[in-house]
Amino acid sequence: MCFASLGLSAPILKAVTEEGYDTPTPIQLEAIPAVLAGKDVMAAAQTGTGKTAGFTLPILDKLSKGEQAKANQVRALILTPTRELAAQVAESVATYGKHLPLRSTVVFGGVKINPQMMKLRKGVDILVATPGRLLDLYNQNALRFKQLEVLVLDEADRMLDMGFIHDIRKILALLPTQRQNLMFSATFSTDIRKLAKGLVNNPVEISVSPRNTTVKSVGQWVLPVDKARKAALLTHLIQENQWEQVLVFTKTKHGANRLTRQLETHGINAAAIHGNKSQGARTKALADFKNGTSQVLVATDIAARGLDIDQLPHVVNFDLPNVPEDYVHRIGRTGRAGATGEAVSLVSADEFKQLSDIERLIQNLLPRKLIDGFEPRHDVPESHLNQRPPRANRPKRAKPGHSDGQRSGENARGHKPAGKNKRHHTSGNKAAGVNSGKSVYRGNQSQRTTAKSV
Ligand code: AMP
Repeated sequence: MCFASLGLSAPILKAVTEEGYDTPTPIQLEAIPAVLAGKDVMAAAQTGTGKTAGFTLPILDKLSKGEQAKANQVRALILTPTRELAAQVAESVATYGKHLPLRSTVVFGGVKINPQMMKLRKGVDILVATPGRLLDLYNQNALRFKQLEVLVLDEADRMLDMGFIHDIRKILALLPTQRQNLMFSATFSTDIRKLAKGLVNNPVEISVSPRNTTVKSVGQWVLPVDKARKAALLTHLIQENQWEQVLVFTKTKHGANRLTRQLETHGINAAAIHGNKSQGARTKALADFKNGTSQVLVATDIAARGLDIDQLPHVVNFDLPNVPEDYVHRIGRTGRAGATGEAVSLVSADEFKQLSDIERLIQNLLPRKLIDGFEPRHDVPESHLNQRPPRANRPKRAKPGHSDGQRSGENARGHKPAGKNKRHHTSGNKAAGVNSGKSVYRGNQSQRTTAKSV
C-alpha cells in the first residue's frame, strides 16, 4: 500500500515523497483514511510509530479544502504535553504542509507571549500548543475557536501524568461541540478512558506496536551494580567503549543534574534536560547533543518524551523507571530507522521490583552482564518470569453493537485484549533477539564480560 492510495492530495504526496517516505506505517494506514472520512480516532501508539504524520497529513488535506482561518481563529488545534514535542509536531506540520497555502504556528510557555499573540492575529489554520499557554492566550483574547474543526490530544497519557487534566477540561469547554476529535496515547489507563469518554464519539480504535525495524535492532542488557557505583560504571562504559552519543535516563531532575556534574568532572561533555530547565536551556541542550557538542544527554522520562533523535546508538537506563511502559519508550530511542542500538540498564539490588515489572511487561527476562571491577556487593536477586501479562492497557474493545462498525483489525477479529497484549509483547522481544527459552534466570550464571563487549 502506498501513500497515493490513501486519498491524500498531490501537494501533500509531494511533501511526503520529499521526506523520503515511500510506505505508510501501520498507524498511518489506519488513521489517514479514518481522519479523512471525518471519524473520531482513539489510538494507542507511541513516538516512533509515525503517529504525527498519521494525524497531520489528513488534517492538512481536509483544511486545504475549506475556508482559511479568520482573524484570531484556529481551525485545527493540536495539544501536546511538552514544549519539545510541540516544537517537533509544529515542524512536521510545516514540512508536510509546505506546498499548501495554510498557516500554522506553535505556542508554549517559558518564552515571551507577545510574539505569539502577533502570530495569532491573522488567524492560523493549525495551532500546536501546550495547554497552559493556550489558556493564557485565550484569556488575553488572542484566540477564538469559532472556526475550530479538529482537536488532537497528542500523548494524552503524559498530559494526565503532568497534571494537565484541569487545563484540558477548561479548553474542551471553550471549543465548539461539533468537531472532530483525535486522541493519541501510549497507554490507556482508567483515567485516559474516562477522559476519552467525554471526548471522542464512536471512535475508530487503532492499536499499533512500535515499528518493527526499531525493535529488531535493539540489544538489551542489564548490568547489575551497586547504587553508589553507577556513575563510575557509566563513566567507565563511555570511556572504555568510546561512546560518542549516549542518551541517559534518570528518574528525577535532581538525579539528572547530579549525574551531569559527575560526568563533567571526568571530562565527559554532558547536558541535562528536564522540566526545571528554561526553554532556552532545553533547546540548547538538545541542539548540542544533536550536533555532537555534548556527548551525553541526561534526561527524565517526561522531558525526553517525544524527542525525535535519529539513530541513537546507546541508551542507558541509569535508574529503572517506576512505570514499566517507560522502559519500552526509553529503549525505543535507539536503533531507529534500522540502525543498530544498545539499551543498557544499570540495575541495583533495590530496583529488583522495577526490573521484575519490566520483564513481566515485555514477557522476557533481560540478559545480565557483570562488568569486571563493578560486581555488586548487594546482589540483584534472580528473576522469575511472571507469565501472566499485566492487565491490558489499551483502548477497550468496541461493543458488538459498535455503530460505525470500524474497529482495529485485531478487535474486528475478536481477539481478547489479554491475548493481544501477550502476542504484542512476545513478538516485540523475539525481534529484540532476547531468548525467552528459560523461565528462571540465575543471577550467579550471569555472563562475565569486560566493558568493551557491552
Ligand atoms: P513519530 O512517531 O510521529 O514521532 O515519527 C517517528 C519518525 O518516523 C519521524 O522521524 C518521522 O519522520 C518518521 N516517519 C513517519 N512516517 C514515516 C514513513 N511513512 N516512512 C518513514 N519514516 C516515517
